[in-house]
Amino acid sequence: MASAKEKDWDTALRADAEVPAIRSLLRRLGIRPRKGLGQNFLVDEDVLARIMGVAEIEPADVVVEVGPGLGILTRELVRRAARVVAVEIDPQLAEIVLRLVPSAPNLEVVNADVLHFDPAGHGITPPYKVVANLPYYITSPTMRHFLEEVPHPDVMVVMVQREVAERMVAQPGEMSLLSVSVQFYGDARMAAVVPTSAFYPQPKVESAIVRIDVYPRPVLDVEPRSFFRLVQAGFSQPRKQLHNTLAQRLWFPPGGAREALKAAGIDPARRAQTLSLEEWGVLWKVLTVQGLLKAEG
Ligand code: SAM
Repeated sequence: MASAKEKDWDTALRADAEVPAIRSLLRRLGIRPRKGLGQNFLVDEDVLARIMGVAEIEPADVVVEVGPGLGILTRELVRRAARVVAVEIDPQLAEIVLRLVPSAPNLEVVNADVLHFDPAGHGITPPYKVVANLPYYITSPTMRHFLEEVPHPDVMVVMVQREVAERMVAQPGEMSLLSVSVQFYGDARMAAVVPTSAFYPQPKVESAIVRIDVYPRPVLDVEPRSFFRLVQAGFSQPRKQLHNTLAQRLWFPPGGAREALKAAGIDPARRAQTLSLEEWGVLWKVLTVQGLLKAEG
């Protein structure tokens, strides 16, 4: 039989019309949403359904959830997946979520900072999925952590600020360091825009759901450290022409940046945001062959 708390929770979850219910649940649990930890709880069932639809969780799936909070996503994930490991930094929520997600033997809650979470240490090996309504203050480091540092997931479905989502999926003309970083590792698409009213407390800006299908290997055959040193240099002054930016940021003989760009088939007057991933790859190759870009340093 459902406990009183579980019934509270079911009521609180019913729809965004129920924000007062979630507020009263939080009060009863003695929880004050912590802004500094990005605690904007999802209160919209349509958005929840959308995230689940985009994540396409299969019965055999292993899922890492970042920041389960009050467990709105967690409850759906444990119903669908073989195993869910939810990583929550807030000790109070890490304890409460286990009570709010009833009878889920396939759920493990880890009270830790996700940026220090090692999937292998919890017996998770690829393939696995990451699903999260991300705390926005650590969006980029979290993406980097799962795409670069640990054995990577095959799919990531994340709710992030809309503006960040747009940068993740941007095309040449509007590329940024984030676009290159994400698209280097996977195929990213924006699945839906989410209004501020879908959260309690409401954030200031809209959100969006992004799905990234991570490639088995990065899309370019380059050495990642020197590649990203190049891309970072390129985007360090996005309004300037690329030959100027590169000449200032990397070590070139006079005129070398201009010549290297030409050798890569790239007009030296172009700006970093206009380059495609393939063009960055060709430029990296030219600079590496010329010995102008080394792996170390
Ligand atoms: N999943 C819940 C939902 O959709 O309502 C909560 C999402 S809320 C936007 C972000 C959650 O991430 C909060 O529970 C917060 O405490 C947690 N969090 C914040 N920083 C974290 C970190 N570094 N590692 C793990 N969890 C974190």
